[in-house]
Amino acid sequence: MASSRNNSDRASQQDARAWSALTGTKYTASLRQVESPFAQGFLGDRFSVRTLVGVLDDHPVVGSHGGPPVLGDNGMWDTTPWRFGTKKDLVEMALVVEALRLFTPATEADAAVHSYRLKHTVEKLLAPHCNYVTNGRLIWAAAALGLPLVETETPGPNLLVGISEAEHDYVRQLVDGSTPPTAHHHRPAALDHLEESLARCAAGTPVAPRWVRPAPVVVATPFHDWLIAQADRNDRVGDIARDYVGGIEYNIQSICASGGDFLEELVASWPSANAYDAAVHTIAEWFMASPDADPVRPKFVSRSSDDVSGWGAGAGDMEKVTFLCPCGDGEVVEEHDNVPGFREHSVNLWCDRCRGEWDFAPGRSVRDWGLIPLASVPQP
Ligand SMILES: [Zn+2]
Repeated sequence: MASSRNNSDRASQQDARAWSALTGTKYTASLRQVESPFAQGFLGDRFSVRTLVGVLDDHPVVGSHGGPPVLGDNGMWDTTPWRFGTKKDLVEMALVVEALRLFTPATEADAAVHSYRLKHTVEKLLAPHCNYVTNGRLIWAAAALGLPLVETETPGPNLLVGISEAEHDYVRQLVDGSTPPTAHHHRPAALDHLEESLARCAAGTPVAPRWVRPAPVVVATPFHDWLIAQADRNDRVGDIARDYVGGIEYNIQSICASGGDFLEELVASWPSANAYDAAVHTIAEWFMASPDADPVRPKFVSRSSDDVSGWGAGAGDMEKVTFLCPCGDGEVVEEHDNVPGFREHSVNLWCDRCRGEWDFAPGRSVRDWGLIPLASVPQP
């Protein structure tokens, strides 16, 4: 333990010297920043200041390679000296690095997030711990993290940064408060950890152990895959599919693995009758294309059980389980009479609209019922 403690001290001292040499900040002020709780790495290792300083010289895009500076506070080709001078420059750079670590890296070919737009996102995300991030420092942190950096079509101060655009846009929606996301499939997995760590640091309480990226879990989404493949159709299924794709991109539509998920979301936001009809028609087509898909089970509502005295053979109970119907205006009711000598199980759809549009999937037990659109049932 003693030697690792000495090593980390030595690394901190080297980092403080490197920062002091680059910025003119006093050594003690530099060391204080290197050792700040905000600069110890929340989503990865404590960032090496020597790497940070090194990229200004040796990075293929932003490095000066011994010549005049390529990067400044305004961005690329800004030759005015960096405006160092506050006692927080290094801590703020460490926070920008943490913010960038949130996002899944993209390839150089997919790099599409403008550094200037990203700088505003990061600024808002890190407030109040870091209120101002320059375009140049954003690019600098991205370079030090090894994220792809690509010149824009017309070279200027901005670069395109290789991070997941969908995750960026989600965080942007979240922090700028215009349209808060209501669907969270693009939420960066480490966002909660970063926000909690910042709050704990600010409160002076110990930070949770460093975040570890969980192994990706692949979930089958057959209905989703089928629906997005219909988006170029020139009919009402195509309209539904395009609305769905747009909603997914804009983080207001959740990914629907099944036709039942899709219907539940639709009913929750209850659109026009036309949109509902088009959705049922779409789900019917989906069941025709995928006859083995699980039938629809609308939302559970309640369960009740009444004791009954029985008729001579002894006491029992009557159980009633209620679900919404597909359109949400009526009910699906399971009834189970568990009375000795009088056992009966039934399930019924109590909704005039849905009775004209849905039927129970064949060959299932009363408790395992599911509904499919009538239009998808092969007519004898
Ligand atoms: Zn109904």
